[in-house]
Amino acid sequence: MKSAKVILTTALLLVTSVVAFAIPPAHRSGPGPALRTAESFKDVKPGDKLALVCKQCDTVTVQTVASKEEAMEFCKVGAEIVCGSCKKTFKVVTHGPRGKSGPGGKHTETRIVNEKGEECMFVTKLPD
Ligand SMILES: [Zn+2]
Repeated sequence: MKSAKVILTTALLLVTSVVAFAIPPAHRSGPGPALRTAESFKDVKPGDKLALVCKQCDTVTVQTVASKEEAMEFCKVGAEIVCGSCKKTFKVVTHGPRGKSGPGGKHTETRIVNEKGEECMFVTKLPD
């Protein structure tokens, strides 16, 4: 009985180490997740690179942020964003649960939509 327990423990340890290897630190290298809240845009500093992914024309425009205000434009409701490639003008709107957090609330998500109200662009921060 004792040996069976040892085997079980060894197997468990093995599984644990496999799981540890299965989670690579990939999140540190690739572009981050889409920035959709004012909170996440607040982390953007001048000099950071943002990737503007336009689904309308399937291009990625890389923009170096000149100022904090410029970064905040992407999550300012009503702001207009022009795609550098197809030159279409999109609009920033709020998205998500209403009532829970009012306009400007921490958890208010923003979307960049076209004239039909479809999300057509998102912004992600590129690694340095
Ligand atoms: Zn475009």
